[in-house]
Amino acid sequence: MGKNLTKRSEDYSKWYNELVVKADLAENSAVRGCMVIKPYGFAIWEKMQAELDRMFKETGHQNAYFPLFVPKSLFEAEEKNAEGFAKECAVVTHYRLKTDPDNEGKLIVDPEAKLQEELVVRPTSEAIIWNTYKGWIQSYRDLPLLINQWANVVRWEMRTRLFLRTAEFLWQEGHTAHATKEEAVAEADLMNNVYATFVENFLAVPVIKGLKTESERFAGADETFCIEALMQDGKALQAGTSHFLGQNFAKAFDVKFATKEGKQEHVWATSWGVSTRLMGALIMTHSDDQGLVLPPNLAPYQVVIVPIYRNQEQLDAISQVANEIVNDLRLHNVTVKFDDRDTHKPGWKFNEYELKGVPLRIGIGPKDLEKRTVELARRDTLTKEFVAKEDVVDTVVQLLKDIQENLYNKAKAYRDTHITEVQNFDEFKDILESKGGFISAHWDGTAETENKIKELTKATIRCIPLDNPKEDGSCVYSGAPSTQRVLFAKAY
Ligand code: AMP
Repeated sequence: MGKNLTKRSEDYSKWYNELVVKADLAENSAVRGCMVIKPYGFAIWEKMQAELDRMFKETGHQNAYFPLFVPKSLFEAEEKNAEGFAKECAVVTHYRLKTDPDNEGKLIVDPEAKLQEELVVRPTSEAIIWNTYKGWIQSYRDLPLLINQWANVVRWEMRTRLFLRTAEFLWQEGHTAHATKEEAVAEADLMNNVYATFVENFLAVPVIKGLKTESERFAGADETFCIEALMQDGKALQAGTSHFLGQNFAKAFDVKFATKEGKQEHVWATSWGVSTRLMGALIMTHSDDQGLVLPPNLAPYQVVIVPIYRNQEQLDAISQVANEIVNDLRLHNVTVKFDDRDTHKPGWKFNEYELKGVPLRIGIGPKDLEKRTVELARRDTLTKEFVAKEDVVDTVVQLLKDIQENLYNKAKAYRDTHITEVQNFDEFKDILESKGGFISAHWDGTAETENKIKELTKATIRCIPLDNPKEDGSCVYSGAPSTQRVLFAKAY
């Protein structure tokens, strides 16, 4: 029974698109660039949300909700931010439709229902939030203000890909206000670390923590921290960003606080976000030609039990054993599904759960009942073993840990062997084409060189790693002196 998935080696991007649809994660919709996230895909996203939300609250943040629309006058208050996002904004200009008597009663925009002030559909919420913070912050006692919002945003992207880059996407955006610069920088760094910990421990995706160059920075930020991951095709993916916004938004929205000494000062800000793009990172890092491979920490069900039977009598006997296992596993906090549907054959189910990346599959047939065993199959290694029924729970609990670790280690080994140091531009181009991955190279620090390299190779500076050692060298392109290497890659 074939899944008819294109092989990764044949066409990686086709493989990805097919996989997302066939594994029932998401599909394209009637709206250009916007996707429908299907229940199985949404269940994974909900697990991501639950853990992130827990981590945000543990670090002192609270959730709130702000409007979808931003009046244009507010949107343009912080000039750099407005300029950066202007070219991908959806704008509401009217608030009513009416039937057109000249055209079979079809609906048209009512020209009389024009908004006095246009509304920008939020591409990010700094403007509406900082306009609100003005009323919330008066004195040092109101700080720090640590807020997160779970929301959808719209960026009119021209080239879209399911999860990786959509016109509407789901995300969380943290927006914090602080009394000092040091505190705000520490917050931006802290949340970047929270993202790194989450992505490594839950998605089993290793990341590099770094800073963006000025041209890759968030519009309106003084500094952008990021986590960068590497996909199996050697392209990088920005998995999360955390911005130190300086006093830019406080100045644009006139948000001041009285210090302990009674002085009036502008507050310092951060914002940070991860989006449904993380689903793309998860899929692209671990999955194979058979389909999705899910780390146990994010799998909607970690174990599926499939009965193999010919008649009702056999099914009844198997179900009794299966239900015992289900109960035992649940007592150990393992999420498990017993698929006793008689509408599909076992072979079909095996195929389906492989495609959907369920970490462990338990098969139980009449022979297993006699021998008091079950067959356990691992999705990550595609290996199988027979396990005595009384050992199932312990074995499953251990295997789920092993799978989570194995996926991370495998991804890290790939990533580590795909960071290549180069000394000159020929080597740079050669490695980029032949091997891909991150290229560690000296850069003279100018946007001019950065742009030129991008123009010539499509590679961008993914980040200046935070743990970068200082090293004297000369720029891979211009030959000008440089004090450290940065990471270049082609990116999603
Ligand atoms: P930003 O506000 O630009 O720093 O982005 C916040 C997060 O959303 C980052 O992790 C981005 O990688 C991600 N992101 C940006 N644009 C999109 C998009 N069109 N679709 C999905 N995720 C996105």
